[in-house]
Amino acid sequence: MERVYGSFDIIVIGGGHAGCEAALAAARLGMDTALITLSVENIAIMPCNPNIGGTSKGHLVRELDALGGEMGKNIDKTFIQSKMLNRSKGPAVHSLRAQADKAAYSNSMRRVLEAQDRLTLIQFEVTDLIIEEGRIRGVKVHGDGIFHAKAVIIATGTYLRARCVYGEVSVHSGPDSLPSADYLTEALRREGIAMQRYKTGTPARIDGRTVNYDVMIPQHGDERIVPFSFTNTPEAVAREQVDCYLTYTNERTHEIIMENIDRSPLYSGFIEGTGPRYCPSLEDKVVKFADKDRHQVFIEPEGMYTNEVYVAGMSTSLPYDVQVAMYRSVRGLENAQIVKNGYAIEYDCFEGKELLPTLALKKVENLYSAGQMNGSSGYEEAAAQGLMAGINAVRKLRGQEEIVLKRSDAYIGVLIDDLCTKESHEPYRMMTSRAEYRLLLRQDNADMRLTPIGHEIGLIDDERYAAFCEKMEAVKREELRLKNTPVGADKRTQAFLSAKGSTPLKTGSSLAELLKRPEMTYEMLGELDDERPDLPPAVCEQVAILIKYEGYINRQESAVARFKKLENKRLDPEMDYAEIGSLRIEAIQKLNEFKPVSIGQASRIAGVSPADISVLMVYLEKRRRSREKH
Ligand SMILES: Cc1cc2nc3c(=O)[nH]c(=O)nc-3n(C[C@H](O)[C@H](O)[C@H](O)COP(=O)(O)OP(=O)(O)OC[C@H]3O[C@@H](n4cnc5c(N)ncnc54)[C@H](O)[C@@H]3O)c2cc1C
Repeated sequence: MERVYGSFDIIVIGGGHAGCEAALAAARLGMDTALITLSVENIAIMPCNPNIGGTSKGHLVRELDALGGEMGKNIDKTFIQSKMLNRSKGPAVHSLRAQADKAAYSNSMRRVLEAQDRLTLIQFEVTDLIIEEGRIRGVKVHGDGIFHAKAVIIATGTYLRARCVYGEVSVHSGPDSLPSADYLTEALRREGIAMQRYKTGTPARIDGRTVNYDVMIPQHGDERIVPFSFTNTPEAVAREQVDCYLTYTNERTHEIIMENIDRSPLYSGFIEGTGPRYCPSLEDKVVKFADKDRHQVFIEPEGMYTNEVYVAGMSTSLPYDVQVAMYRSVRGLENAQIVKNGYAIEYDCFEGKELLPTLALKKVENLYSAGQMNGSSGYEEAAAQGLMAGINAVRKLRGQEEIVLKRSDAYIGVLIDDLCTKESHEPYRMMTSRAEYRLLLRQDNADMRLTPIGHEIGLIDDERYAAFCEKMEAVKREELRLKNTPVGADKRTQAFLSAKGSTPLKTGSSLAELLKRPEMTYEMLGELDDERPDLPPAVCEQVAILIKYEGYINRQESAVARFKKLENKRLDPEMDYAEIGSLRIEAIQKLNEFKPVSIGQASRIAGVSPADISVLMVYLEKRRRSREKH
């Protein structure tokens, strides 16, 4: 007999990176929210790499923070090493990455959840969904217990019908030997929702006491740390850091793998799911890049509470005995003791065409989904989706317009648009190359792009917003000041320029013009700039980028203006494209399958050509005119 165990406005299924952000957003926006998860001891765990951020993933975390999410603050509290990657390259690819103390990260996030008003943490496996007349009404748990809700967010990650595999071993379990969730897939299929089977993998964890670090290359963190959260200053997050270490695989390692490749579940077909091309296993790398005689291996501490270290670059699902030989063939790991062996995990997730850009599911009203469940891979990708799903579930229940960030607004916009527009057959990992407007979507200006939206939504409070506006004012003032400060071609200037190896001036110029010179930095110009105000480093960084890249930025902004024209041409989600006789069959099939919300989205669906888009626009224009006539 069914029993009602509770009733909430919003239920989030899953306490992973997506679920935490979704639940916090919903509760902080005033909804009575429950987070139901398999294990409250394992909140926001990192079953794979012990770090947050990295190229493009660092952008996602900063964007999430600028909108009012939690991940940035949580890693600022719990990192053990932090580094700005790609500093030698342009600002578009500068990316923060921080090594996390995994246990501290999980405990800290649990404390934030438990301290949040209107948020209830509950431990259960959700086994079914309650759907009436196409709308979600709640969830079921074991023993026919029922929790009612007006909206539900699925954030079940890598747990649905999860199977862990290494060599000939196959275990029916979630990551880190946690239970798998075996019932929800059927409930989703019952609603006609298309599911697919993905896989990902992880390397072994080794006892750090058995590693010979002396023969490896230490990798230090940055001296001056840039925090992930815009609410923090470098001084506030400064701390002693640990090192990571670099070593390499070698020909012996590759031999061991090739001698046993027939025992690899990847190559024997024992694994069904499709893995991420951009996070390949070592056996994949050795087979696909046979010409390479070595691959990088980074030894990364898992936390201050343990000796365990993560062997980045050696993800594998080879048999245990092969793993032992393979790891011990690496310089510095000759005596390595495996604490946890590497494995691959298969799990069920949605096909992207089931999702709207709001992260609502098309087939069940008020049912949303976020994270690995949507076909992405990565803590950061999951957290970003969780935040958006949480925000949109709240706005839907309040009858407010849901938030869809465009590809020109944020990496989060690129991520979600790709997930629900591009046909994908492998876990989706964010990369800077996916963002066509990446010069505008830098990690340093995430607040400029998104904090006003976070404030309007209600996740950024007035105090933080005031501080943000002050910063923006300071940036504008300083940019203007540099542009309006003349510099004469006088002795002092010429001496300064020659000292910097910069071309002398022929006529007068401005500080801003000088700053545009590649060899010039904002710091250097201080020697020539007597009126310089004392400004926070984040303001100086912004001013320098805006002036130095002004030309590129302007060009990209005009490209965005063109993009928005197509993006703002809305399409009726109920439209039957078979009505448009002159459209190609393939285009009709794809458009009816994906039901795009705009011409812009339609133009990005694989199999829909620019010619099809012209046919569609002509048809829509004719229809508009004929309707105007009647
Ligand atoms: C072995 C392994 C290797 C990985 N390798 C990589 C990698 O190389 N690169 C990379 O980018 N990412 C990798 N990942 C992925 C990364 O862990 C995920 O991207 C990230 O954790 C996804 O976050 P999420 O919130 O979507 O789901 P998860 O973090 O998986 O959290 C899902 C949550 O849902 C709960 N749950 C599930 N089903 C139910 C249910 N029915 N009822 C109640 N609660 C439920 C679980 O308890 C869990 O708390 C790997 C993951 C694993 C497991």
